[in-house]
Order: sequence, then structure tokens, then C-alpha cells
Amino acid sequence: MDILITGINGQDGSYLAELLLGLGHNVHGILRRNSQSENQTSRIEHIRHKLQLYYGDLTDFASLITALKKAEPQLVFNLAAQSHVKISFEQPVYTMQATGVGFLNLAEAVRIVNPGIKIFQASSSEMFGNSIDADGFQRETTAFAPVSPYGIAKLMAHQTAINYRDSYGMFVTCGIFFNHESPRRGTNFLTNKVCKTAVEIAAGKADQLVLGNLHSHRDWGYSKDYVKAMLALMELDKPTDAICATGLTHSVGDVVDHVFGRLKLSREKHLRTDKKFERPTEIMSLCGDSSKLRKLTGWKPEVTFEEMLDEMIAHWQKELK
Ligand code: NAP
Ligand code: GDP
Repeated sequence: MDILITGINGQDGSYLAELLLGLGHNVHGILRRNSQSENQTSRIEHIRHKLQLYYGDLTDFASLITALKKAEPQLVFNLAAQSHVKISFEQPVYTMQATGVGFLNLAEAVRIVNPGIKIFQASSSEMFGNSIDADGFQRETTAFAPVSPYGIAKLMAHQTAINYRDSYGMFVTCGIFFNHESPRRGTNFLTNKVCKTAVEIAAGKADQLVLGNLHSHRDWGYSKDYVKAMLALMELDKPTDAICATGLTHSVGDVVDHVFGRLKLSREKHLRTDKKFERPTEIMSLCGDSSKLRKLTGWKPEVTFEEMLDEMIAHWQKELK
């Protein structure tokens, strides 16, 4: 198949591209123009010669039409977004444009060019905000109540996906993904910030890890596992919405304890908090029930929270050398 990925140079986009190439598909991707070309392809440099890449932007409707016409895909994975929650408070308008309206642009471009193209939308657990079922889980039936511009933008995109499915009979599937990480995660997200800084401290190249809220809980999974779930959902006969999560939750402090424990660092000496890393509103606990996804596709997470953090530590140790 010909498959188009928006956000191909992001964490998930780069792993999904590798997975699809391995299965023999023709992989196309949309890249944003960046003044430094090496920055825009750092995660896909090793497979770049196998990819068809087009400049485009979710906020630039015409560029989406052009990419769809050039790629002629059967599937489109929309992984592009302004994906950082804290930054969404600093750039709320842009976040709405890229993460919310950007999906509308893509859905509309697909409807105009070829409504038979199947779309995957990367929805987010941020859409739940602090909404939580009595047993401590979020599931497909849990009410959405986002508390950040990012969560609100993702909810706009999610509802638009459902509307295009219902109004036009288009195949639009939403994976409601809980946090997922890897060595390719941005270093301004919690897990990779902790791993990178802790490795630097252990090597004597930094002294302190400075974080915001240590008490929130997240359901942290592994990006390579989650891109497999995206593909499995797109192989179903019918479009749907399904949660992708591990079903286990850990606090920010647990991440620090695991990483500091591995590197024999003391919290007292090397951990500090600063309000500048807190958000105006915070989600205190995320833990996803992915029974629906597991039943529909047989998917299950393969890499544990601890194994994933160990891989990220090893990555930064190698980078530092
Ligand atoms: P990521 O590493 O931040 O990648 C996002 C990608 O989107 C980057 O390639 C970025 O390109 C691109 N992008 C940003 N704005 C764009 C625009 N206006 N037009 C076109 N491309 C644009 O995110 P990720 O972790 O791979 O996540 C993939 C998707 O899943 C995102 O939609 C994210 O919101 C969603 N999601 C992620 C998680 C998670 O925990 N990772 C959980 C739930 C949902 P540049 O390199 O040019 O910035
Ligand atoms: P998010 O769940 O999508 O916002 O993913 P992040 O990795 O950005 O944040 C996960 C949790 O870590 C949130 O509850 C943050 O408030 C918390 N956190 C605490 N300190 C930091 C920090 O310095 N940076 C980031 N990114 N998050 C932090």
C-alpha cells in the first residue's frame, strides 16, 4: 500500500515508518520546513532514502491537498500535532490551529481528494482531563473534560473524526493513546528529561534535575508497542475509537526513583523542584483500560515501564560517550 504519515519525523511517526517499510509498504510523509534541515529529519535520517517526503503543514490546507495528490495513499496516519501540554498553555492559539483545526484540514482534504482514503487520528488521554471512573480507570465511555489547550484541541479533532465518520461514511479511526515514550521522545517531556539529565549527572556533566509536579500519575507505555496498535486498528473492517494503554500507573516520583536508583543518584543531592515546570492546571491521574483494543485486535504491550526507562538510560549513556 501507499501510506501517508503526517508527523513522520516525530517519535511515533519515525517508528511507524520503520514498521510499515518492514512490511513492504510505500511510505510517504509530510515534513515541516525548518531552517536547519538536519533537525527536521534527525529521527528518520537512517530510512530517509526509502521515504517519499513532501513539505507541508497541517495548518496549510493546500499543502495537504498537494501531498494527498502526490502520494495517492490508501491510508493516512495523522500523527502531527503541537504535542506538548505545557507549551500548549504558552501557545494556545497555535495549538488549536495545528492540533485541532489541522485535523479538520486533513479530513476535509481527504474528503475532497478521495473520501475512500482511510484515516487514523492520534487522539489523547489528555481529552479526559481529571475525569475518572470509580475504579480509577479511564475507558471509551469516560466523560471527556480536558484541562489544557492541547486536550481541548485533541477533543476538537476527535469529535471531528466522529463527525466525518457519521456524516460522510468515511473510515476514520481514533486511537485514544495514553502517554508513551522511547529514546526518541522529546527531551522536554518528563521521562526523557529525567533519563538524559540523570545520565549527565552520573557522568559529572550536570548537577541537578529540576522538575515541576512530582505527584501526578501517568500510564506510561512504549512508543514502539503503540505504533503496532495504530496499524492493528487500521486493519479492522470498521472504523472505531479505542484506548491504547498499559493499565498500570506510576507517579512522576516513581520515574525519578527508578532512574536515580539505576544510576545510584540521591534525590536529596540532585533533585529540585521549581514552579516554572508546573502547569496552570494539571491532570492528577491517568490509567487506561484498553480491553476494547485488546479484544478487537489481540494487541498487548510488550515492553514494561522499567524496561523502557532502562532502554532510555542506555541510549543517553551511549550518546554521552
Ligand atoms: P512528536 O514527537 O511531538 O511528533 C509530532 C510531529 O508533528 C513532529 O514530527 C512535528 O514536526 C509534527 N508537527 C507539529 N506541528 C505540525 C504542523 N503544524 N504540521 C505538520 N506537522 C507538524 O509527537 P509523538 O509523541 O510522536 O506523538 C504522535 C501523535 O500522537 C501526536 O499527535 C501526539 O499529540 C499524539 N499523542 C502522543 C502521545 C504520547 O504520549 N507520545 C499520547 C497521546 C497522543 P516538527 O519536527 O517539525 O516539529
Ligand atoms: P503529559 O502527560 O502529556 O503532559 O507528558 P509530560 O511528559 O510532559 O508530563 C508528564 C507529567 O510530568 C505531568 O504531570 C507533568 O506536570 C509532570 N512533570 C513534572 N515535572 C516536569 C517537567 O519538568 N517537564 C515535564 N514535561 N513534565 C513534568
